[in-house]
Amino acid sequence: MSHPVLARLGLNEVNSGAGCGEWIARPGGHEILSINPADGKPLARVRGAGLADYNQIVERAQAAFLKWRMTPAPARGEIVRQLGNALRDAKDDLGMLVTLEAGKISSEGLGEVQEMIDICDFAVGLSRQLYGLTMPSERPGHRMFEQWHPLGPIGVITAFNFPVAVWAWNAAIAAVCGDCVIWKPSTETPLTAIAVQRICDRVLAAHGLVGVFSLCVGEADPVGIAMAADPRLPLISATGSCAMGRKVAVAVSERLGRSLLELGGNNAVILAESANLDLALRAVLFAAVGTAGQRCTTLRRLIVHESIAEDFTARLVRAYGSVKIGDPAEPGVLMGPLINERAVTTMLRACETIVAQGGKIVYGGKRLDRAGFFVEPTVALARGDMPIVRDETFAPILYVLTYKTLDEALVLHNGVEQGLSSAIFTERVTEAETFLSARGSDCGIANVNIGTSGAEIGGAFGGEKQTGGGREAGSDSWKSYMRRQTCTINGGGDLPLAQGVKFDVG
Ligand code: NAD
Repeated sequence: MSHPVLARLGLNEVNSGAGCGEWIARPGGHEILSINPADGKPLARVRGAGLADYNQIVERAQAAFLKWRMTPAPARGEIVRQLGNALRDAKDDLGMLVTLEAGKISSEGLGEVQEMIDICDFAVGLSRQLYGLTMPSERPGHRMFEQWHPLGPIGVITAFNFPVAVWAWNAAIAAVCGDCVIWKPSTETPLTAIAVQRICDRVLAAHGLVGVFSLCVGEADPVGIAMAADPRLPLISATGSCAMGRKVAVAVSERLGRSLLELGGNNAVILAESANLDLALRAVLFAAVGTAGQRCTTLRRLIVHESIAEDFTARLVRAYGSVKIGDPAEPGVLMGPLINERAVTTMLRACETIVAQGGKIVYGGKRLDRAGFFVEPTVALARGDMPIVRDETFAPILYVLTYKTLDEALVLHNGVEQGLSSAIFTERVTEAETFLSARGSDCGIANVNIGTSGAEIGGAFGGEKQTGGGREAGSDSWKSYMRRQTCTINGGGDLPLAQGVKFDVG
């Protein structure tokens, strides 16, 4: 066993990846090796689920749903409150496991677990606020209102880069809404998922519950594909690349199911002439280099006013030079590894493409000569019409583009297929308001004087265009996890019809 945290979280050298309180001892899918990206060494092995295991898990979730849907929402909230407390107790260990398995620096690993705790707290309050509207009926003696009911067991497919928080955004909200949740995590991060499932198991067992939360670790084929096509799961919430989202969207819509898609981003900051450049420098550095450029909200395009572009780029390059790269578990390290060898190859190829398309790398662009999957954070001078700039390369590459007028900056800003997160740095209220107006940023998230990443759970999170249109976490995102029912009660003795229609016999 490579790290004591694994044992403390109940993980063995070989683990079942399929279960819900009662684990399937020998699931029939492929074995998955969990690798520490900081040294390339295995952490533990996981037996992935095959189709038969998947079906067993769905059947248990269907059975659990019959009881869970009739449990009062505030009572469901109480169980989610206890889950939040169990996560508080496990925060240090789980945060460290995120660091070990996903390569996030310690404070970001802990931050992910904090996000899980925060969304549990939010969901507890929500469990008493699943409000429906009442509307006046046009018919005498009639009352009209709407109410919200649970959907059923739902499928949650997650990406490697938020191995636990994204599950929690979905699961805590879905659970208070009365849904059971079947989770297919990324095969890059199966151990964090198993550790979370074990925590859920303990909380649920204290209430005699099994199957409210369940786990099905496995490859996209067969598990992810089976979920997307499965009419027993009325909602599929899927987080990952646009390529994945396109396939999941087709499979779910084919069966007229619902999908909630949280897909790739290509996020930009507009840096105006009037901006507070000290503030902007810190924000750009965190947004572009944090999580080694592997956040969906990572800053990928910096659109700088031409009058400040040269000086600001020089300052940025100096700041990049001071970023400590290394073992993400070590204090003071700001940038850990990429997730795997494929990610390193993709980044190095992208750097070649930048040059081939006429861009210029002014910092970074290379792999670090050490074990694990480390690269240099990279700054490249580029143009908006370079095809590579329109792609999301999931690595720490920042393109610097320049503009003359705000209109020109907005065209560059909105000129990509993705629409997740965006920001402007300016001290002028007119520029800020233009950016937030209907002709401004076309993204799901638009910030002023803060960077593109680091959203709070209280807001609805998600993006437009090819980012998929889904919204998770706060605000009224809960409505995606429920079905709306419009009800009319005739409390009078007569039967008047709407719109004055008459249908009387004799
Ligand atoms: P990925 O698309 O490779 O995989 C994501 C998940 O989808 C995995 O669990 C994978 O097994 C599954 N999957 C892949 N193909 C599938 C299919 N055909 N059917 C069903 N499931 C399938 O993404 P990744 O490399 O793990 O994560 C990085 C990507 O995720 C980036 O594009 C990033 O922007 C995006 N992301 C988006 C958000 C958001 O909220 N918008 C959050 C995190 C990550």
